[in-house]
Amino acid sequence: MSHQIPFYDPHRVPLAKPWLGEEEASAVAEVVRSGMLCQGEKVAAFEAAFAAKMGARHAVAIANGSAALLVSLEAMGVGPGDEVIVPDMTFISTATAALRLGAKPVLGDITLSDHNLDPDRVEALISPRTKVILPVHYAGQTAEMDALRALAARHGLKVLEDAAEAHLARYRGGALAGCLGDAGIFSFTPTKLMTTGEGGMITTDDDELAARCRLIRNFGDAGKFDWQRSGFNYRMTDMAAAIGLLQLGKLDAILAERRRKTRRYDEAFAGEPVLVTPWVRGPEDCNYQLYTLRLELNALAIDRDTFLARLQEAGVSARLYYPALHRQGVLAASRAGGDADFPASVAFAASAFSLPIFTQMTDAEQDHVIATVLRTADGARR
Ligand SMILES: *Cc1c(COP(=O)(O)O)cnc(C)c1O
Repeated sequence: MSHQIPFYDPHRVPLAKPWLGEEEASAVAEVVRSGMLCQGEKVAAFEAAFAAKMGARHAVAIANGSAALLVSLEAMGVGPGDEVIVPDMTFISTATAALRLGAKPVLGDITLSDHNLDPDRVEALISPRTKVILPVHYAGQTAEMDALRALAARHGLKVLEDAAEAHLARYRGGALAGCLGDAGIFSFTPTKLMTTGEGGMITTDDDELAARCRLIRNFGDAGKFDWQRSGFNYRMTDMAAAIGLLQLGKLDAILAERRRKTRRYDEAFAGEPVLVTPWVRGPEDCNYQLYTLRLELNALAIDRDTFLARLQEAGVSARLYYPALHRQGVLAASRAGGDADFPASVAFAASAFSLPIFTQMTDAEQDHVIATVLRTADGARR
């Protein structure tokens, strides 16, 4: 095979595999013909179906996952001067949501097993200004929620889960991501397991929190021009919700396909000593939004970036998700003192990479990825 295997390919539509297709196209056309393009029946139906699927009392549809973070933090009472504890290794909006409310994201190190917030390091970050612990379920692997919830209870804090990557991920084989804290947020941007183009959702069992989220989403309007609190326009369109309803129906099949691809990668890489395959807490916990490996750098003659460049030359697009946040200029004021405070996150950022695992990737392409990774690892050993 000579062509480039992309990390993600938005152009493979429609396909036989359970992904976007003609059903979604017709559903969007139907919404357009109905004339009710926003905050109509489809949004209400998508919310009800999503809440039922996740086992949450409420689901509140939002324009995108980052806005869902912003709205839930605001509904939890986060404002200027408050602090929100966020892992050092996540997508930027987990941290900038707090910044945009005038609050301070306080970065915590991760573990090198689940790649999520290390509960043992969180207590030292709690101050009188801390309002929320915001764990991320990175790559669809849930964070260590029992310990984080216990800490939050002891200090009177709220827990908001960033489940943007964790549709149908479970914690210890039990409850689903998004139902493990006071509230959870999801993203439906096209690289996620299910998509609405742009879209997000807040899940919660808390009636009052859900009501505040609905108010903030719609200008703080409690009725017709009854503006009760500061809000803005964070609404989802009915075109997006119509796509979401169909995607939600395919989510189990999409997840099964992810798990099948993951098993193929796991089996292929099991005997390769320079590759650390993804750790799992329980066999059915992770949704494999990303397939993230780490390199045993001590056993290699090259660094991770050279390794990725060699993969790229051989036609495989692999990437680092994500760089350490404490090194980002936008979070300069949130730095606890530099690399020494984030040993696991720094080690992750130097050694991790994610391989293509998008739903539409063919087995032949995956075989090419596997062969390329194994050949590259073999040729780079010390
Ligand atoms: C995708 C993602 C987001 C942002 O979601 P958008 O819908 O793109 O705004 C937030 N946090 C994490 C961990 C993500 O992966």
